[in-house]
Amino acid sequence: MSMQIKRRGLMLVLSSPSGAGKTTLSRRLLESDSNVTMSISATTRAKRPSEVDGRDYFFIDDEKFQLMVKAGEFLEHAQVFGHHYGTPKQPVLEALAAGRDVLFDIDWQGTQQLRQQVREDVVTIFVLPPSRDELERRLRARAQDSAEVVMRRMAKANDELSHWAEYDYVIVNDDIVRAQTHVETILAAERLKRARQPGIPEFVEGLMREA
Ligand code: 5GP
Repeated sequence: MSMQIKRRGLMLVLSSPSGAGKTTLSRRLLESDSNVTMSISATTRAKRPSEVDGRDYFFIDDEKFQLMVKAGEFLEHAQVFGHHYGTPKQPVLEALAAGRDVLFDIDWQGTQQLRQQVREDVVTIFVLPPSRDELERRLRARAQDSAEVVMRRMAKANDELSHWAEYDYVIVNDDIVRAQTHVETILAAERLKRARQPGIPEFVEGLMREA
């Protein structure tokens, strides 16, 4: 029987240009690993037809967003495609305190802010699309955004792509199953880091006593 040793939760960040498959990857990871909690961001952008308020995002207006900024309720926040996005602080802190890992789907600006605030507990992964054509195809296939929005997102992809080297890990998403395995492998290794297992010294002491 494996021992349950106390450990500290980590913050796993996935970033990529829109259309690299990061949302699908996040969903798959949440389904396969019950210790991972998704951080649900707040945004001022309009809800897409398939999205659910409180599940995909908290859809709020500019006024509420600014109130939350002033009240210090965000762990990080940034403007992306002309809309505000932010990570509510409280749920993240609660999940980490309970030893859970928290998954973030945020852009490079948010990743930089998060790393500045909580350097040790942040693990970052950049997800690359297999090709430019595939990126464009995925953005169009999404069809939830207007043609103009798709164009803007393609133009913005280079900006996001230019930050790949700031991340701890890079995954090329040419096969969703393989990409998921890569994320799970990274998570497994990061969880085993000595610093993330504060229960180990006590455990080893116990082992030595019994000997
Ligand atoms: P979308 O509008 O397609 O859902 O997301 C657009 C971009 O905003 C994505 O790159 C996503 O990672 C990023 N994003 C979503 N939530 C947040 C957040 O809370 N903070 C930051 N900095 N970026 C976010």
